[in-house]
Amino acid sequence: MTSLNYTTNIIDSTVKSCLNCHDPHLIFDDEPYKDTLRGTKYLLFPATIYFLPQELADFRCHNCGFTSFYRSGFTPMHLIKVPSVNSTYQTAIAARSARIRCRNCNSTCSASSELTDHGCQISKLLKAKIAARLRMDISAKTIAFEEGVSASTVNRTLDSTRCEFRNNFNFLPLHLCFDEFRGTHNTYHFICLDADNHAIQTILPNRLKQTIFNYFMRFPAPVRSLVRTVSCDLNSYYVDLIKKLFPNAKIIIDRFHIVQMLNRAVNSMRTDLMNRFDNNSKNYKLFKRNWKLFLKRYDDLNCTYQFYERSQREWVTAEQLVNQGLQLADQDFRKAYWDYQRLLEIIDDPTPSKIKIFKQCLTEVNQKYSGSRSEASKADKALLTLYDNLIPVITALEPQYCHYTNGPLEGINRKIKQIQRTAYGYRNFEHLKARIYLQTYLGKDTRNSVKTA
Ligand SMILES: [Zn+2]
Repeated sequence: MTSLNYTTNIIDSTVKSCLNCHDPHLIFDDEPYKDTLRGTKYLLFPATIYFLPQELADFRCHNCGFTSFYRSGFTPMHLIKVPSVNSTYQTAIAARSARIRCRNCNSTCSASSELTDHGCQISKLLKAKIAARLRMDISAKTIAFEEGVSASTVNRTLDSTRCEFRNNFNFLPLHLCFDEFRGTHNTYHFICLDADNHAIQTILPNRLKQTIFNYFMRFPAPVRSLVRTVSCDLNSYYVDLIKKLFPNAKIIIDRFHIVQMLNRAVNSMRTDLMNRFDNNSKNYKLFKRNWKLFLKRYDDLNCTYQFYERSQREWVTAEQLVNQGLQLADQDFRKAYWDYQRLLEIIDDPTPSKIKIFKQCLTEVNQKYSGSRSEASKADKALLTLYDNLIPVITALEPQYCHYTNGPLEGINRKIKQIQRTAYGYRNFEHLKARIYLQTYLGKDTRNSVKTA
C-alpha cells in the first residue's frame, strides 16, 4: 500500500510540474496516454478532482442550504484543455470530479478545479497563452488551429483583454497627435497618440467631428486646458475642433507634410518643364536624369566632385547641373525652386529671421493671387494652402515645437495596415482595436506616460 502511494505521488508531482498546474484539487493518478477524440489526436493526462477537506467542512447545499451530504461517486470524464506539451498532440487533462449529494433535497454538487472557470473546458493557462500569442503578428485562425480551440474562443479571449485598455478620464498627455486610418467596412477611424511616449490615447469608431467632440468632452475642462500642442495633417479638418476642445493648445501641422507638399509641386513643375523639350534633346535629359538633384538641398549639392555626365557630354559637378537647369527654366520654376530651398533651410536650422522671411513670402504670394487663385503655379498653390493655415504652419517650424511631428503616428498606421493584412481584414471594429492595442504595446513600458503637467 505504501509503495502504491509512493508511485502515485511521483506521477502527480511530475505531471503537475510539467503542466505547470499546482491545483490541490487535482490528483493525477495515472500515466498519460494517447487517444483520438472527434478526429483530434490528444495526449491525455488522467486525473481526479476532489473536494478539499475544508470545502467539505463548510459545505452548504446550493439548493436548500442543508449542511448534511453523502458521497455519490464521480462525474463522467471531461476534458480540460491545457497548452500543448508536444507539437504532434493537443494536450488535455481527462478529469473526473468527485460528487456529493445533499441528504435533504437530493441535489448533487461536484468538485471543481481552479484551473478553469465554471462550466468552461479551456483552462486559464491556455487562455493566457492565447492572450500572449494575440500580441504577435499572427491571425486568430492560426492561433486557433495551433492551440486546438475554435476561432471564436480566440476572439472571446481577445474580447476579455479589452478591459485592460480602459481610459483614465482624469488625465490627458501634454502633447497629442491626431490622425486617421482606414479600417473595418472601408470607414476611417480616428486615432490619437501621446506624442512623448508614443502610447495610443484612443481609437474611435469613426472620424466624425461629433464623435471626437463627445469623446474629449468626457475629460473635465481643467484637464483639457493642460494640453499644450496637438499635431495633425495639413489636410485635416480638426483645426476648429481643436480650438474648441483644447483652449490653450497650439496646433502644429506636421512638418513632413508641409515639405512633401512643396516637394511634390516642384517635382511636378520639373516634369512639365522637361516635357517642353524634345525627348532626345540634351535639355530633356538634364531634367530627366538628374531629377533627384532638383529636390535636394542646394547647400548639400557637391560643388567640388566632377563626374562625366553622358547626356551633356561634359565633366560637371552636381551644383553646375542644377544651375544649368535653373538657367533653362522659366521664372515660375525658379521661384518655386528657391521657395522650396528656403523651406528646407528652415527645417534644417530654424531661426526666427528665416521663419520671418518665409512668413513674408507666404503673405506676398497671397497678395499676388488675391484676385483669382486659379492662375497660380503648382508651387504657389501649395504656398497658398500653407497661407490658409498660417499660424499652425509657422508654429510647426518654430524651434521649440519642431520635434513634435506625426512621425510616430504614421509608424503606428503602418503597423495597423500590417495587422489588417495578416487577418485579411477585420469585420469587427472592437476586435481590430483590441488587436492594435495588444500589438503596439508589445515590449513597451507605458507606465512613464503619466507626466506631471
Ligand atoms: Zn439540498
